[in-house]
Amino acid sequence: MDIKTACIHYSSPQLNEGPVVSPIYQTSTFRFRDFQHGADLFAGKTHGYIYSRMLNPTVELLEDCIAQLEGGTKALATASGMAAIQTVFTGLCSSGDHIICSESVYAPTAGLLHNYLSHLGITSSFIDSSDIEQVKSAFQADIKLVFIETPGNPTLVISDIAQIARLCRDRGALLVVDNTFSSPILQRPLELGADIVIHSVTKFLNGHADVVGGIIVVRDENLYQRLRKTLNFFGGVMAPFEAFLVLRGIKTLALRMERHCENAQKIAQFLENHPKVNWVRYPGLPSHPQYQLAKRQMSRAGGLISFELKGGLAAAQRLLNATRLFILAVSLGGVESLIQHPASMTHASMPVELRIRTGITDGLIRLSVGIEDVNDLIADLDQALQKV
Ligand SMILES: *Cc1c(COP(=O)(O)O)cnc(C)c1O
Repeated sequence: MDIKTACIHYSSPQLNEGPVVSPIYQTSTFRFRDFQHGADLFAGKTHGYIYSRMLNPTVELLEDCIAQLEGGTKALATASGMAAIQTVFTGLCSSGDHIICSESVYAPTAGLLHNYLSHLGITSSFIDSSDIEQVKSAFQADIKLVFIETPGNPTLVISDIAQIARLCRDRGALLVVDNTFSSPILQRPLELGADIVIHSVTKFLNGHADVVGGIIVVRDENLYQRLRKTLNFFGGVMAPFEAFLVLRGIKTLALRMERHCENAQKIAQFLENHPKVNWVRYPGLPSHPQYQLAKRQMSRAGGLISFELKGGLAAAQRLLNATRLFILAVSLGGVESLIQHPASMTHASMPVELRIRTGITDGLIRLSVGIEDVNDLIADLDQALQKV
């Protein structure tokens, strides 16, 4: 079945009878039929629901859905993308373990490793994972887990998932891919050899900017069991209403991704030819340093664009105050187009040297291109750039 169909016709035991759209199981706890039923549920002898921190039918339906879209065996929905990342790190690593992470990464992921995992004795190092030689030399140490984000935030550098997966397998390390920027429509890391995929479902999967949530998808049943236990103890689970909204959002995921990609491609070309722009990073432009790799690994180039304005911070301030359709806000992946300034917003917490080294200069702008009419979006950028 094509993934466009699977967004609507995923399978789950819950969908075999009853309503076409599943109800929201807005309950914290579940009635046992009798003593034995309760005891069997706790012993894991029968499938069912005990308490909503452990498992909830609405949330489980979302887990079934996304597991299928990503080609995984099982999934775990979490209260946020960060809860998904935290669950993976704390569930699979312990004191003395080492993690390698892409340096072009969602800033709180780096902050979590730096400021909290280090207190637990879990150390980490940051590399440019788009440079395979850097990945190879990082493997000289003992590594428990490699965490990559591709395309990376906000510079959109691309890392070679299949090649890094082979290195991980040779060394017995787990490969975790943050697939938030692509969604399973554009890229499926498990098929390329990754062990775990995480998403902030807040972004493209939900797509309507009205939910914060996360998901972990795994191929291996044992990993699933370990992570389920971790999630149950730490407690960062998704609520049923959020799961319902994300299930609703996913029905149009394939359709939305098509328009995000189409619009972003045209806007990237417009910006690349604009005299006030130094350079544009978009995986669908031949000028992207990993253009060929992007074509192999992703079916299309996605909805995120970053570009550097001539004129640095002052120019960035003017532009961000001048757009009318592009909303000045962080986050991404919603139907509405957003614009933000990574150096003073999403990546302001990054040490300055690292920020500059990874290309997050004062003139860098990040766009999340929505599904509006592309000519309206280009006209908006055009009038805003005239004010720069
Ligand atoms: C937003 C985001 C996260 C964190 O997700 P939340 O839902 O905000 O906790 C992680 N990774 C990437 C790439 C993101 O864009």
